[in-house]
Amino acid sequence: MTIAANLGYPRIGPRRELKTALEAFWEGRSSEAGLLAAAAGLRAAARADQLAAGVSHIPSGDFALYDHVLETACAFGLIPEGYGWSGEGPASLATLFALARGARGGEAERAAGVPPGAVALEMTKWFDTNYHYLVPRLSAAMRPRLLDHRWARAFREGLAHGQRTRPVLLGPVSLLLLAKREDGGRPLDLLPLLLPAYAEALRILAEAGAAWVQMDEPCLAADLPPGAEAAYLQAYQNLAAAAPGLDLMLATYFGGLEENLPLAASLPVAGLHLDLVRAPGQLDAALAALPRGRWLSLGLVDGRNVWRTDLRAALALARRAEAAGFGRRLMIAPSCSLLHVPLSLAQETGLDPALKRRLAFAREKLREVALLARGLDEGEGAIAAALEESDRALAEARADARLHDPAVAARIAAITPEMERRRSPYPERARAQAARLGLPRLPVTAIGSWPQTAEVRALRARLARGEIEPAAYEAELERLTAEAVRWQEEIGVDVPVHGEFERNDMVKYFGERLAGFAFTKHGWVQSYGSRCVAPPIIWADVSRPAPMTVRWSAYAQSLTDRPMKGMLTGPVTMLQWSFARTDIPRERICRQIALAIRDEVLDLEAAGIPIIQIDEPAFREGLPLRAADRADYLRWAVACFRLAASGVRDETQIHTHMCYSEFNDIIESIAAMDADVISIETARSDMELLQAFLDFDYPNEIGPGVWDIHSPRVPTAEEMAGLLRRATNRIPAERLWVNPDCGCKTRRWAEVKPAMANLVAAARRLRAELA
Ligand code: GLN
Ligand code: ZN
Repeated sequence: MTIAANLGYPRIGPRRELKTALEAFWEGRSSEAGLLAAAAGLRAAARADQLAAGVSHIPSGDFALYDHVLETACAFGLIPEGYGWSGEGPASLATLFALARGARGGEAERAAGVPPGAVALEMTKWFDTNYHYLVPRLSAAMRPRLLDHRWARAFREGLAHGQRTRPVLLGPVSLLLLAKREDGGRPLDLLPLLLPAYAEALRILAEAGAAWVQMDEPCLAADLPPGAEAAYLQAYQNLAAAAPGLDLMLATYFGGLEENLPLAASLPVAGLHLDLVRAPGQLDAALAALPRGRWLSLGLVDGRNVWRTDLRAALALARRAEAAGFGRRLMIAPSCSLLHVPLSLAQETGLDPALKRRLAFAREKLREVALLARGLDEGEGAIAAALEESDRALAEARADARLHDPAVAARIAAITPEMERRRSPYPERARAQAARLGLPRLPVTAIGSWPQTAEVRALRARLARGEIEPAAYEAELERLTAEAVRWQEEIGVDVPVHGEFERNDMVKYFGERLAGFAFTKHGWVQSYGSRCVAPPIIWADVSRPAPMTVRWSAYAQSLTDRPMKGMLTGPVTMLQWSFARTDIPRERICRQIALAIRDEVLDLEAAGIPIIQIDEPAFREGLPLRAADRADYLRWAVACFRLAASGVRDETQIHTHMCYSEFNDIIESIAAMDADVISIETARSDMELLQAFLDFDYPNEIGPGVWDIHSPRVPTAEEMAGLLRRATNRIPAERLWVNPDCGCKTRRWAEVKPAMANLVAAARRLRAELA
């Protein structure tokens, strides 16, 4: 019988209950027992959901309080020194959260021996998703062993409710490949030490009665570094022998196995899971390569997007596997964990009904999985009604005239190469801009947002509930904006920003003003820890019915003689942080957004805004996992940015901002974007991250962040002057700007005011030194 399986389920809960529970615990409003009870309740609800959907392989151990990579590393004793772990027994919650968030002070930390200065582990994107994991920090001194029986505990928790779940472990090779070593060695060198710990975890699961265990090895779907192939062979030979009674399901996702297929097929595991949404083309090769007798798990339902599955097409793929002789050893599953999609459509009452019929969130996706398994076993007749409904939804989407806007198509067709080029090269523009703007050396600016205080959020909530009139809301925002402009003038910010008080979120604000975007009410997806985002859905052609930001930027400019900087979210980021339609290429969607942003840029220019920043914090995250696919992405991503930016005159200055600095592999493309000024995150790395710009000889202006806004700490002027001094040693002062690392919306005014004053003082000190 075909098995309906799942790889992982959203953890956050239908109404972000995990977020509520975590924050209550962090703020001391609830106990450890309270937090753990809330988490257990969420796990029970998730199991019940999946059971009701008709899934028989329900994952366990996929839940994590903060991050599954961190919890896996901690469970195996990969805990760096300096977080209060004694070296024996499982890490305390205080240690776990200090690793995740840095020390915050408080009694629990003191009691657990967490040093006050402990800084959080580095956080980075989980492959090409918007989920962030904590990068385990390894050293040769570590002695991996199973400290925490978290998988057995989760398995027994299911058993107690009569459910034999399928434990999920992040596999040892992917865990090490995702980790970093600070002592110079290679993370993979720890594998021989780590394998006995994994083997023990598997033995305990076998004893507890587990039949299948899912080993996640997403790195098999990416380019493997040297040594990884041997590591995979060693790891799985070892683990297969350690728990002979267990069936291991090797799960790969986020792409195709490609050249790693022979390796994956040769590993001694019971089954292999393939992502057939990202890489449907790999099925035939896998059918040919896999030994008979192996189980095949077909990832047919998209775990990365919100669209309903074309059940008939999915069933046809599954039939191919059946025909190739895998009929009695088939599983149907989502392409990857459902962590990356919202929980359930049932909560969405405000969506356009026709659009809603085309969507499937986690719960609905699992019903599709179960239907496909049933259709395969019992024939199409058994699921005829569901197939017809799926056909109807698809046909309705294809026939929906609202998806296609002829005016947008005409504009796309009329794009010329000139539209993607500024009129003059940078040096000429720089002269025109200098003459117009009259800025001092090392001009001081900010990234855009000032604190989104409780006051601002309350205003927006009252507007949404209809408790205040739009005019009153706007008047309040004008007051806040005016105060912010006056304060920036007072402290000496050379290029002030209006503060973005009117924006809830940098994508949502624009999406709500563009045609083609839809929004959910509760479509939360975990970004990191307790932080969630509700990505918009791009379902139709994008266009801009009316100006989106001009009113606020023009108002702010009217209050000051200094050049006001207008802030926009760039096309690549808008696309990357949305769930996008799949009926047209991403490149085309991005161009549509770029044209809309271009219109906004030109309207800002016409309104007298001399400097316009187009933020692209997601530019790098869009980079495909496989090196072979990157050039194409970079080509269109750069072109779209340039399309958005290049309509302006020479004397209008274009900025961009990216909140990270791992630019080494894409620095040429960053330069090709040809922004006049780029601001980047560098404070935490002591300017180390400027190196990519130096090695490459970046030609335009740069604002390396000198204040790490991710921390509540207020840096001194001397500290920031020190960072600037290091920057001036490397970049000519004529091309250097002074700014924080990122926007200040999550900071409090009590931190922002002194930090910005110190930042201005640092710039003045450097100017004096250079004079
Ligand atoms: N302009 C935005 C802000 O200041 C940029 C945010 C970001 O880079 N993520 O908030
Ligand atoms: Zn940023």
